[in-house]
Amino acid sequence: MRIIIDRDRCIGAGQCVLTAPGAFTQDDDGLVTLLPGHEDGTGDPNVRYVPGACPVQAVTVSDD
Ligand code: SF4
Repeated sequence: MRIIIDRDRCIGAGQCVLTAPGAFTQDDDGLVTLLPGHEDGTGDPNVRYVPGACPVQAVTVSDD
């Protein structure tokens, strides 16, 4: 699985973390980041739902 995050677009709403806390977190500025070792989406089966949960389309997930 491939996760692309656009931190310039992120507004810190936190829906990604609420949806898939096993892979996503927020940095000190509240912006989206991936947990170390989970850049490929391992650790949370709900990663695929994050793009739909983010209000500003800052996360893209693909299967490759
Ligand atoms: S849900 Fe979207 S806007 Fe909110 S923290 Fe995550 S990536 Fe950023």
